[in-house]
Formats: sequence, C-alpha cells, structure tokens
Amino acid sequence: MKLSNYPIKTFKDAPSDAELISHQLMLRTGLIKRLASGIFTWMPFGLKVLRKIEQTVREEMDNSGAFEVLMPTIQPSELWQETKRWDDYGDLLLQIRDRHERLFCYGPTHEEVITDILRKSVKSYKQLPVNFYQIQTKFRDEIRPRFGVMRAREFLMKDAYSFHLNQDSLEEEYEKMDKTYEKIFTKLELDFRKVQATSGEIGGSVSHEFHVIAESGEDEIAFCDDENFAANVETLESENAPNGGELTYARGIEVGHIFQLGDKYSKAMKLEVLDSNGKNVNPYMGCYGIGISRIVAAAIEQNHDDKGIIWPSAISPFEILIIVLNDKDDSNVMDQAMKIYQELRSDGIEVAIDDRDERAGVKFADADLLGVPTQVIVGKRGLEQKKLEITSRSTGEKREAKIDEIVNHLKN
Ligand code: ATP
Ligand code: MG
Repeated sequence: MKLSNYPIKTFKDAPSDAELISHQLMLRTGLIKRLASGIFTWMPFGLKVLRKIEQTVREEMDNSGAFEVLMPTIQPSELWQETKRWDDYGDLLLQIRDRHERLFCYGPTHEEVITDILRKSVKSYKQLPVNFYQIQTKFRDEIRPRFGVMRAREFLMKDAYSFHLNQDSLEEEYEKMDKTYEKIFTKLELDFRKVQATSGEIGGSVSHEFHVIAESGEDEIAFCDDENFAANVETLESENAPNGGELTYARGIEVGHIFQLGDKYSKAMKLEVLDSNGKNVNPYMGCYGIGISRIVAAAIEQNHDDKGIIWPSAISPFEILIIVLNDKDDSNVMDQAMKIYQELRSDGIEVAIDDRDERAGVKFADADLLGVPTQVIVGKRGLEQKKLEITSRSTGEKREAKIDEIVNHLKN
C-alpha cells in the first residue's frame, strides 16, 4: 500500500467527544468512520486488522472441529415469540416490518435460528454432538452506544452453538471451547483473564467471560491466584474468594463469553432427537461468543503510548512501514525505497510505504501514530552509507542493516 495513493486524509485530530484512547486513535488513524450513533464503516487499515482477528478466530474454531455457517441477519419475530425472548430482549431488539407488515428483527444473537435449523434437520442422537459457528454482523440497539466500536450498535461477532445428547457431552465441548478461546486470545497477543460470569437473558447456569485487562474496561473483575479463582464482580456474594482468600481487583473489557444453556431453547422450540433407546429427548445446548470488532479497540487500549498505537504483530495492518525521506532534487531515494517495497511485496510481506510529499517530522509522527511494528527509514544519508535504519515501534530500539541485505534481513 502506497500512502500517497490513499485518497482519504488520515492522521487527523480526534473529535472531542471521543473519550477513550482507543476510540481517539482509531479515528485519528482512519481505521473507522462514524456513520451514525454506534454505527461505523471499517476503512482499509481498520479492515485489515479486523480480518486478521477474524482469520485467527476462524482457524482455531475450524481446528476445534466446529462447522462454519452464515445465518441471515434478519430474523422473523415468530421464532423469538416461541422462546418468549421477543419481550425479554426489549428495546435492544431493532424491529423491522416488511411490505406485508410482517415483523422481523435484526439479529442480536442467533440461538433461535440455529435451534430452528436443528429441529428441521436432526432427528437422531447419532447426529450429535455438533457445533456450528459464524462470523457475522449483529445489531443491538444499545441504550448508550459509546467508545466507538467498543460498545457499538452494529458490530462483528463470532457466535457458535453446540448441541448434545447429555450434560457430559455439553461439558466436554465447553472445555474444548474454553481451550480454543485461550489459544485465540494468546495468538492475538492479548493480556487476558477468564472469569466466572452471569448468564443474563441468554439463560442457562454455567458461564465464563474472557476479559482483556485494561484500566478503561467497563467491568470489574476479582481474582485470587492462590485459589485459582476469578470472577466478574457482578457474580460475587462475598468480599472473599470461596476458601476465604483475599481478592485482587482489576478492570476488564469483555471480549468473549461462553455459556452452558441446558435445554432452555430445545424445550421452548421443541427440538427433539431419538436417543439410543428410541425415546425422544431435548438436546442440551452451549453457546460461545467473541466480540471480533471490540477486540480491535481492546487491543489498542492495551497497546499504546502517548505517540499512538503499538500493534501486537499478530494483528497489525502491516508488518513493515517504509518511511521515505524524499529529496526533490534526487529521485534516487524514492527509486531505492520503491525497489525495497516491491521486493518485500513479492516475498509476500505486508508492507506499506510512506511516499507522501510530507516533511520527515510529519512522517515519523504518523508512523508512530499508526503503530506498525517495524519502521524502515530510507533517506539520502543511509543510501550514501549503504546502511538503512530499522526502528522497532514497541521498544524504540534502532538497528542498521546493509542496503543489499535489507530485504533478507527484514524477511527474517
Ligand atoms: P456487554 O456485557 O458488553 O453488553 P454482552 O454480555 O451483552 O456484552 P454477549 O451476548 O456475551 O454480550 O456477546 C458476546 C460478545 O460480543 C461479548 O463478549 C462482546 O465481546 C461482544 N459484544 C457484545 N455487545 C457488544 C457491543 N455493543 N459492541 C461491540 N461488541 C459487543
Ligand atoms: Mg456477555
């Protein structure tokens, strides 16, 4: 990507109503654009980050043996009447009427739709267990959309739903999803914690949340490492851990939530399968969410300094940013920089080049703001000395590489 070709001005000041640092930085670097309250467009740099998170989640869900589907975003109200959630969900549901006055909602979650699919296609215990997942846009008409994509109305979620003949099988899958989530958040290089949680209007008994630790987090979590205990403060009845241990507190951003739902949905929607004795039973269900778009904001909350974003390498929009200190009287600098850029690209490295007609100071500041892990500086002095400077965004550490070895050096 050549920054000079990008038609939209980025790297501006954030509007004053952006309270959270991640929201300010996402607007200043042009990752997102606001359309309406809690509704955003993902612009090219932001979309790259979003897609990387999506891909990591997809790979690990596929590894777990879950099957990817894509359900409709629009759902008929009748399904939600069956589970009584049309009323329980209340104003969070965005209701829509079609030309025949039939009532629908824009899906905030998909328990009803997947249960409807199962009741139309699964008749025998031999078809269980199964886990279906999707990565899809949700809409929740949040009372207070704020903090940009952190609490949006339209947002991207990974949601998965598993079905089982009995509780043991459900618990086995729940454990598997727990491990899968650990892998996903580790791969995304996030500092996170799993905590006991409440289930809310989704229902069921057992549930756990995954929180990215950040001071700006909306939730308070408590833990006692001696007792291997951690919980969302919402769930706590006492001031101590179960065995009396002292609790430590931290703030967290909820990025994942897993639930054991039992037979709430299969009973309400009459999903039945024949067990091995030929008897009709209601399967047990689990559901497992990850806030894909919220993770972008959470990662920035956890990885920034006063100069800007410091992307974890796993989700950075680019691996390398070439900063060209161009000299109007000497096209050699731009030619050499472009050569390096093309070579890196043809080696499959995700590289951007700041070939804009801007002062060096502006380019350095924007590079730090955008937060790409590795910066390569191509200027007249470096070319004369046949050595180029490479800077690490996270540590600020500078090193040099010989110009004829630079591409190999960066590849490693
Ligand atoms: P919250 O407590 O933050 O309102 P929730 O518990 O209602 O979220 P879940 O139903 O558990 O949300 O949804 C799964 C995941 O989707 C959440 O863990 C979160 O990461 C993400 N998510 C939920 N609501 C939003 C939102 N308004 N904007 C962005 N992401 C969201
Ligand atoms: Mg939740």
